[in-house]
Amino acid sequence: SKHARLDRFISLNSNLNRRDVRLAIAQKRILVNGKHASTIHQVVSQFCHITFDNQTLQANAPVYIMLNKPAGRVSATKDSTHPTVVGCLPQQLQANIHIVGRLDFNSTGLMLLTNNGAWSRHLTSPENKVNKIYEVELERTINDDEWPQYISAFASGMYFAFEDLTTQPAKLERLTATRARVTLVEGRYHQIKRMFGRFRNKVIALHRTQLGALPLDPALQPGEHRLLNDDEIIKLS
Ligand code: URA
Repeated sequence: SKHARLDRFISLNSNLNRRDVRLAIAQKRILVNGKHASTIHQVVSQFCHITFDNQTLQANAPVYIMLNKPAGRVSATKDSTHPTVVGCLPQQLQANIHIVGRLDFNSTGLMLLTNNGAWSRHLTSPENKVNKIYEVELERTINDDEWPQYISAFASGMYFAFEDLTTQPAKLERLTATRARVTLVEGRYHQIKRMFGRFRNKVIALHRTQLGALPLDPALQPGEHRLLNDDEIIKLS
């Protein structure tokens, strides 16, 4: 594999020259695998993840991105009529990107994106039972005497004839008379909307707050993204 001194590696993979690299290191703007680089003599390989001002430098390096999905974007890499979630990212992060678990057009909140297909499949396969936590707002009030019916229906699982499957046990928690928290371990098509649909109740807002042990960073405004740090990547692996 290709090894090189840090200053050479960066000058080959970016528009920084070696003098720029030395300065950028002193200014602590270069990270190698999440740690500040301290010397140009550090030896790196193509498998290291190197960033300058939080932008990944080398092509095809693994990237793991957290996005606060805004409403009005499709969870797709391309779409002929609507803007996509991938369009929220700068061009250099868009290549070869996978969406880790879709959200509906008007749903919002935590979305992960990566160019590591294996990692994406690991997080989304139902057998791995990674928790996905959502906060939903409902059109109709759920009365105190109705909550237990909803909660036990979510916990028992619902049969979806179209796919011929029964949903895995899901947790439903009351937040207010019209707001709830839902924890799923899978992500079936329109799953939460269809589950509340059984009670003729309509989901009018749906926001994902957590995936596995990873909460949405409260500093991210809708449409904003950042790279995951090493601790967060490990937490999810
Ligand atoms: N369930 C839904 O119905 N929509 C989503 O976007 C996510 C889960």
